Amino acid sequence: MVCQNEELETLDREGLRALQLFQFKRAVTNALRTPFYSERLRSVGITSSEDLKSLADIEKIPFTTKDDLRDAYPTGMLSCSMDDVVRMHASSGTTGDPTVIYLNQKDLDNWTDMTVRSLMAVGCHRGDVFQNMMTYGLFTGGIGLHYGAEKLGMLVIPASSGNTARQYKLMKDFGTTVVHATPSYMLHMYGKMSDYGYKPSDFKLKRALIGAEPHAEEIRQKIEELWGIDAYNSYGLSEMNGPSVAFECQEKAGMHLWEDSYYMEVIDRDSFLPVEDGTEGELVLTILIRTATPILRYRTKDLTSVIPGKCACGRSSRRINRITGRTDDMMIINGVNVFPSQIEEVIMKMPEMGNNYRILLRKKGTLDQLIIQTEVSEGLFSDDTRKMNALVSRLRDDLRASITIAPQIELHEPGVLPVQEGKAIRVVDER
Ligand code: ADP
Ligand code: ZN
Repeated sequence: MVCQNEELETLDREGLRALQLFQFKRAVTNALRTPFYSERLRSVGITSSEDLKSLADIEKIPFTTKDDLRDAYPTGMLSCSMDDVVRMHASSGTTGDPTVIYLNQKDLDNWTDMTVRSLMAVGCHRGDVFQNMMTYGLFTGGIGLHYGAEKLGMLVIPASSGNTARQYKLMKDFGTTVVHATPSYMLHMYGKMSDYGYKPSDFKLKRALIGAEPHAEEIRQKIEELWGIDAYNSYGLSEMNGPSVAFECQEKAGMHLWEDSYYMEVIDRDSFLPVEDGTEGELVLTILIRTATPILRYRTKDLTSVIPGKCACGRSSRRINRITGRTDDMMIINGVNVFPSQIEEVIMKMPEMGNNYRILLRKKGTLDQLIIQTEVSEGLFSDDTRKMNALVSRLRDDLRASITIAPQIELHEPGVLPVQEGKAIRVVDER
């Protein structure tokens, strides 16, 4: 196995648990230095890391939520002097005060090592040309993989997102072999390629790292088939540094959550109690590799499950299933709970359907109306209403079978539905 740190990556469960307890205690010591946690932890009787005797004691620590991070803006979660901090990241803050994280140099080095590990897990190496099409800036998606890619010895093209014409040109002129992008942008780029005068054989692309937004397995397969490459799922969130919390390996059998750096729990959405491996719940994470902003038991709102058993690659960190959505993504349509991922799965299973779709929710009288707008595959859109109507009824029937609601379907030509530069906006709720 070619990897970043064989000893840590193949550590047995017992060794891993011991390491995690040690690191968790250190995280609690750091947390007690922050204004926010010194109050929060003392309120439950934790005044020193010695109050944690085993990993089970972690459950004494209350969960941390996004609102806690907002309330702590700007320095309530800082555990050291600002002079020791070398980087900050913040969320966009569109729905309230932004959340901020700080990193000291050691924190940054640790994160970089995790990104090296993730890149190596999918087969990246020195000599690769890495075009990073995630947004650079306060958002961690772009800059997050940048330093690890350099450290690994790849040639990094910090393209950032958008400017599709330039992306193709960079890919062609510099022989890009690896890209990092949202899955929706990969599909968009494929769809627009011929408009810009390019074809897949103009490129040397081998791999895409796709993440930052939920996507069905069918979307991965579509990207792989269209581009003729391997696509790997990459998961992260700003509160836990950003990309490289969990990453697929070349087995493509779930994402290894790097347990020597993150302590993971999966809890029931209602009772907040831990669920069994294999059962879906909300992912709760504690970052073990950051000092400047410790965050304990963070409720990510992301829904996933632990995959039981060992991965064939030999890495011992447990794997999580692809994120099916966020607890706050759930739509209630005339009393029925529906996740956007359920709709996506049905659409993507139909080969006639294209690469982009939108879910609209409207009010008609007192009732909710669900409208699915989807593009059809290249060359399939036609004036033959019989053909189009047959497609509409098939999609409607398949959706009804999956979500128990028969939506109104609108078919569109490829390339007409809106595309975002960053994360895709799939749901438009006009109710
Ligand atoms: P960043 O990508 O910089 O971490 P945010 O913190 O704004 O940006 O977004 C993190 C959120 O994005 C996660 O909590 C999750 O909901 C979503 N996300 C990230 N990666 C994936 C992925 N591979 N699959 C599904 N959702 C993802
Ligand atoms: Zn593996």
